Amino acid sequence: MRAVRIDRTGGPEVLTVTDLPAPEPGPGQVLVDVEAAGVNFIDTYRRGGVYPLDLPAVLGSEGAGRVARPGPGVEGFAAGQLVAWKEAPGSYAEQVLVPAAELVPVPEAVGATTAAAVLLQGLTAHYLATDTFPAAAGTWALVHAGAGGVGLLLTQVLKLRGANVLTTVSTPAKAELSRAAGADDVVVGYAGATPRARELTGGLGVDVVYDGVGRDTFDAGLDALRPRGLMVVFGGSSGQVPPFDVQRLNAKGSLFLTRPTLRSYTRDRAELLARTEEVFGWITAGRLDVRVGGTYPLTAARRAHEDLEGRRTTGKLLLVP
Ligand code: NDP
Repeated sequence: MRAVRIDRTGGPEVLTVTDLPAPEPGPGQVLVDVEAAGVNFIDTYRRGGVYPLDLPAVLGSEGAGRVARPGPGVEGFAAGQLVAWKEAPGSYAEQVLVPAAELVPVPEAVGATTAAAVLLQGLTAHYLATDTFPAAAGTWALVHAGAGGVGLLLTQVLKLRGANVLTTVSTPAKAELSRAAGADDVVVGYAGATPRARELTGGLGVDVVYDGVGRDTFDAGLDALRPRGLMVVFGGSSGQVPPFDVQRLNAKGSLFLTRPTLRSYTRDRAELLARTEEVFGWITAGRLDVRVGGTYPLTAARRAHEDLEGRRTTGKLLLVP
């Protein structure tokens, strides 16, 4: 089977397509024929060495496809069944071994493409808007990178919960997409975000900032918050936020700061399935639109990473074997 492997960390040029033997499912594992693999920012952090990997390694963690063969002792999954997963190392490949505990059933009405496009980013949008900060009618939220994969989904989930949403994007075309996802107000460029947040809230500041951009947006984001507001740093597409003096939370008015990860909001199978069912339910009910911004063959994985890191993409990127 073909797979996208790295032998060393580095830029997108380290991604190479290789032929590997088909994997054998062990106890508790399921062999899946991949129909689409999700490309996520975390794959670029792993490729670059920000999050260490044992090398050589097949990249990727998310995808959807059909069960080829359940391993010994696996119950509840049968050959041919449509499934998706957010965390199975080696998903940039024609076949991957997924731990049965990670696998979620996908309704045929959702389909493999949408499932691969929504699982990781949709679950992220779900926990950020429902649990990290339980947004409700009257909430004002600032979402950076509003036309990105997480950004488009998070904006929609916040709107489903009745919140008001201000987003930032880097181009007028991205602003159009963010508005179409429901953003009440969109600022092009980060510099205008804090003044606009204050204008929209009568000078008070927003209740919550969702920041997946990190280094370039974090400082100004603190100034956009109301007293006792919550800063949610969930990623660092511009670079990670440097070490932080907690006294600044005091000076800005008893602010809260969190750095959440999806893993701690899908702590057991019941939580994973409950969030997934709600996200798939919104899709089948036509309440959540999943935008695939680019589909690439495995041989173009390098270009997918270059486009994502080059800020040229909107919505979700997929690799299709
Ligand atoms: P996006 O589709 O949002 O792409 C990243 C966007 O960040 C770009 O399109 C760009 O939008 C913006 N950006 C700003 N500065 C830069 C820069 N210097 N280089 C590249 N991009 C930049 O990616 P994802 O939706 O996959 O991920 C968004 C963030 O969410 C990432 O930081 C990721 O790590 C994080 N994440 C965190 C999770 C968690 O549980 N903690 C789970 C999933 C994702 P623009 O051009 O409009 O500014």
